[in-house]
Amino acid sequence: MSNKAIVVIDMLNDFVTGSLKCDRAQRIILPLHKLLESARSKGVPVIYSNDCHYPGIDNELKLWGEHAIKGTEGAEVIRELKPQKDDFIIPKRRYSGFFQTDLHLLLRELGVDALIMTGLHANMCVRHTAADAFSWGFKIIVPTDGTEAFTEEDHQGGLAYLKQVYGAEIKTVDDIIKDF
Ligand code: ZN
Repeated sequence: MSNKAIVVIDMLNDFVTGSLKCDRAQRIILPLHKLLESARSKGVPVIYSNDCHYPGIDNELKLWGEHAIKGTEGAEVIRELKPQKDDFIIPKRRYSGFFQTDLHLLLRELGVDALIMTGLHANMCVRHTAADAFSWGFKIIVPTDGTEAFTEEDHQGGLAYLKQVYGAEIKTVDDIIKDF
């Protein structure tokens, strides 16, 4: 029996409705809400891995334009998935939620060995975070209806990559909830 945590990646205003708007993100809000509520009720930690960029400094901004700038509304989690009292919020300045952040230390202290990785985008930040999770030896579980990307191809391709390269278990939110 593994000790799980949920990682919610970049479900921020700028990624859902703002400067890097992704219409497909709308379809995962309800399933994620259900997953987070269930996790909290079962004592499974909920960790938000949030883009939080320094303007004029972070290299990603040259590729993507300004988004999720520290201290702005665009860098806040969407109100439908608002973090609750006992959740954790870990800012990141790169694609990976592990790179130069508090995430690994926190997961070790929580005794977590399996990550349920959710949010945006399956082929970018979820993928880069999964790469580091795999390297650190975490088991990876990814809900199809709890991750998205700009296109269907990007979403499906992203999931296939996670499965092939990191051994990720691809499941539905309902199946993940049943295993809590
Ligand atoms: Zn970013």
